[in-house]
Amino acid sequence: MAAKIQVTVWNEGRHEKKNPVVAKVYPKGIHGAIAEALNAQPDIAARTATLDEPEHGLSDEVLRGTDVLTWWGHMAHDDVADAVVDKVHQRALEGMGLIVLHSGHLAKIFRRLMGTSCTLRWREDGAREVLWVTCPAHPIAAGIDDCIILPHTEMYGEFFDIPQPDETIFISNFAGGEVFRSGLTFRRGAGRIFYFRPGHETFPIYHDPAVRKVLANAVRWAAPTGSMKIECPHKPLGWFEKPV
Ligand code: ZN
Repeated sequence: MAAKIQVTVWNEGRHEKKNPVVAKVYPKGIHGAIAEALNAQPDIAARTATLDEPEHGLSDEVLRGTDVLTWWGHMAHDDVADAVVDKVHQRALEGMGLIVLHSGHLAKIFRRLMGTSCTLRWREDGAREVLWVTCPAHPIAAGIDDCIILPHTEMYGEFFDIPQPDETIFISNFAGGEVFRSGLTFRRGAGRIFYFRPGHETFPIYHDPAVRKVLANAVRWAAPTGSMKIECPHKPLGWFEKPV
């Protein structure tokens, strides 16, 4: 059997410590729920890392051994050390996959990779969200029907200030009439990036089977297909000097 895809599930982990409602929804943390979902897949091995660990759990060794990093953060984006962001950025350009979840839209690493403000419209009303599949042939949408329905979510609406994505896999609509590009792919360097909107901390979104399926699909899609050194080669190739 081929080697498993090595995933590191990163979570800020602060809401779970401060808010008993969140701790009840995610007794093992948001990271615990996501890692559990991924580890149920035969081809994925997921471990976790959180903000309050040394180096935020993202040592050089961990990052070197990570094929795909998933990122959930919200209330403490500014507490993420720039030195760690630099290392994650470098690994992403070299080919590590990165899956940015929900409020991670304002994470330092996502804003740096996008180069825009990544701001959006929001409202915490607990109403219904329908994520329509807009790219049914895409591997990230494999096994998903026409749409995913989440009965209670936080609303995110346009305008979402991001560069034009390579692909839009899901578009959400909300009870208030808003729409949002909810599943988006980007390439940066040799790395693949997927932004996936669902995941507000007070709702059991990461226990939803369809959301879990998308996460596993996204890990497979974002897994490295090659790697790239970040450099500007300048030695002559010498092709035309060699005898044929
Ligand atoms: Zn939220």
